[in-house]
Amino acid sequence: MAPNESDILREQLEYLIEHTAREGRCGCSECQRYGRARSILLEVFGEPGNAKVREIEPSLAKAA
Ligand SMILES: [Zn+2]
Repeated sequence: MAPNESDILREQLEYLIEHTAREGRCGCSECQRYGRARSILLEVFGEPGNAKVREIEPSLAKAA
């Protein structure tokens, strides 16, 4: 069974969060990807009551 699309997105996001956490937003292309991914995720999953956004929100908050 192919991995679920949201799992792939989560992995990507976690990778980018890790990078920004470690490098402190150095401004490289990965930092920019993170900024884009974050705003997209907030736009897509930003509605209250979404379980997925609650799962990733703590990580986003830490990285911001
Ligand atoms: Zn960077």
